[in-house]
Amino acid sequence: MLGLIQDRPLLISSLIEYSGLNHGDVEIVSRTVEGPIHRTNYRNINLRAKKLAQALTKLGAKLGDRIGTVAWNGYRHMEIYFGVSGMGAVCHTINPRLFPEQIAYIVNHAEDKYLFVDLTFVPLLEALQEQFEKVEGIVIMTDEAHMPETTLKNVICYETLVEAEEGDYDWPQFDEMTASSLCYTSGTTGNPKGVLYANRSTVLHSFCVCANDGLGVSSGDSILAVVPMFHANAWGLPYAAAMSGAKMVLPGAAMDGASLYELMEAEKVTLSAGVPTIWMMLLGYVKENKLKFSTMDRTVIGGSAAPRSMIETFINDYGVNVIHAWGMTETSPIGTTGNLLKKHADLPEDEKIDIRIKQGRLVYGVELKITGDNGEELPRDGVAFGDIKVRGPWITKGYFKGEGGEVLDDDGWFTTGDVGTIDPDGYMQITDRSKDVIKSGGEWISSIDVENEALGCPGIVEAAVIAVPHPKWDERPLVIAVKEKGHPVSRDDVIKHLENSLAKWQLPDDVVFVDELPHTATGKLLKTKLRDEFKDYKLPTT
Ligand code: ADP
Repeated sequence: MLGLIQDRPLLISSLIEYSGLNHGDVEIVSRTVEGPIHRTNYRNINLRAKKLAQALTKLGAKLGDRIGTVAWNGYRHMEIYFGVSGMGAVCHTINPRLFPEQIAYIVNHAEDKYLFVDLTFVPLLEALQEQFEKVEGIVIMTDEAHMPETTLKNVICYETLVEAEEGDYDWPQFDEMTASSLCYTSGTTGNPKGVLYANRSTVLHSFCVCANDGLGVSSGDSILAVVPMFHANAWGLPYAAAMSGAKMVLPGAAMDGASLYELMEAEKVTLSAGVPTIWMMLLGYVKENKLKFSTMDRTVIGGSAAPRSMIETFINDYGVNVIHAWGMTETSPIGTTGNLLKKHADLPEDEKIDIRIKQGRLVYGVELKITGDNGEELPRDGVAFGDIKVRGPWITKGYFKGEGGEVLDDDGWFTTGDVGTIDPDGYMQITDRSKDVIKSGGEWISSIDVENEALGCPGIVEAAVIAVPHPKWDERPLVIAVKEKGHPVSRDDVIKHLENSLAKWQLPDDVVFVDELPHTATGKLLKTKLRDEFKDYKLPTT
C-alpha cells in the first residue's frame, strides 16, 4: 500500500523559486571580473534564471542538452546554475585549470551545445574553438559595454541575451531523476570522467548541507564560497543557500588573502568554505597584518586534509570553528562533516583537536564502510583501516557515457579510492589515497599523517610525502617540502620535529627542498608527477 502523500518532484528550480519568493531581498554579492562589486538578490536571480531559460529555449536548447560554463564564482554563474537545470538541461561546469587538451576533450565528450564563458577565459576558448565538435554558440558573461574583441565564432552577449526576455515563465515540472549538472573529475590519471547529478540528488544533498550536523547553512548565514563553482558545484553551497535563503558572497577571480578578507569583513561573512591551500594564504595575510575576523564563526575545510596547525590557528587564535569535511565529486560532494558531539564538550582542547583532524562524522544519507583485502567489512573501532566505500542517494552510480565501466559492487557500494578508519561514533579518518599510501616492511605509513606533521615544523610552508623504492623495506617515505622564504630550516630540523609525533619506522628517510610543488586542477598535490620526478631518487638509507 502506498502512502497518500503528494508526489511532487524534487527539482532544482524549486530551490530558487522558494528563495525568490520568500527571501527575495537577500543579497548575492559578487566581485566581478569587470572590476566592481555587484549586488543582486534572490528575487532577481530567480527572474533572470527564468529569462535565461526562455532565451536558451529560443536558441534550441532542450531537456537533457548540456550547457557548459567556464566561469568564476559570480551571480551570472548562479543564474546559469538555476536557469539551465531549472529548464531541464544539464549545467556542465568546466574547470578552467585543467590542461587545455583536457578541456577540449570534456567539451566534446559532454557534447556541450552552448558554452558560457567569463571574460577571463575568452582567450582559452579562442585557442580551443577549432577542436569543439558540437558547440553551436558561445555566450560571453558580460554586458555590451565590456564585450571584447574576439576571434570566437557565434558569440552572444549574456546581458543582451537575458534582458531580451520577459521572465514570464513557469518552471517546467519533470521527473526528479532528470540530470541537472555534470562535473568531470580532474583525473590525475587517464581522461577526466563525468559525474552526472540529478535534480533529486541535488535537492537531497542540499537538505544535508543545511542540516545542523551537515554544514548548518541557514537564513542567518552570509556564505563566502571560495570553493569554485566548477569544482563539485562549490560543494553544493549555491543550492543549499537558495534552500535556506542564506546570503551568498562570490569572490570572482580574486582569491588572494587581502581580497577574501575584505569581502569577509564588508559582507559580514559567517561561514566560508575552501581548500587548505586557500586558507593557508588567508591566514598568512591575516597574521601578517594583525587582523581578526569579526563575524566569521565557522569555516569548512575540505578537498585535502586540514592540517592540525591550521585547525588550531582558526580555533585558538581567531575563534573560528572549523568544520573539517570529506567528500569527492562522486559524492556530490558531502560525505562526512566534522562537528563535535555533545559528549565532547568538556574534553581538553587538545583532545578536541584530535577529533577535529578526523575527516568528520557520517551524515544521514551517506552509508559508509571500510573493507579489507578480500572485501570483508572491517570493524568500526577507529583502528582498523581499509578501503572506504560509500552508498546513498547522492552518490554516483556510474560515469557519464559509461566511462570507467561498472563502478558499483554487487551491493551497490562505490569504492572511493581512499583508505581510512571509522570509529564507533561514526567519525571517519582518511589514512591516505590508496595509491599514495607507503608500504614499508609490511606496515602502512600514511603520507597524509607525515605531511600534516611536517607542516607543523617551523619554516615549512608546504610538504608532500611520497613512497620511494627501497631494497630492504619495499618503500620508504620521502618528504618534498617548500620552505618559507629565507628560513634556515634544514633536513635534520624536519626529521627532528617529526620525531616528536611519529614512530621511528614512520620517519621519512630524507627531506628534499624544492621551490614549488605541482598541483592538480583542483589544488591538490599532484603526487603522480612527484613520483615520476623522484623515481630514481637514491635515499641515503639505501
Ligand atoms: P579530484 O577531481 O581531485 O579527485 P575531488 O574533490 O573529487 O577532486 O577529490 C576527492 C578526493 O579528495 C577524496 O577522494 C580524498 O582523497 C580527497 N579529500 C577530500 N576531502 C578530504 C579531506 N578532508 N581530507 C583528506 N582528503 C580529502
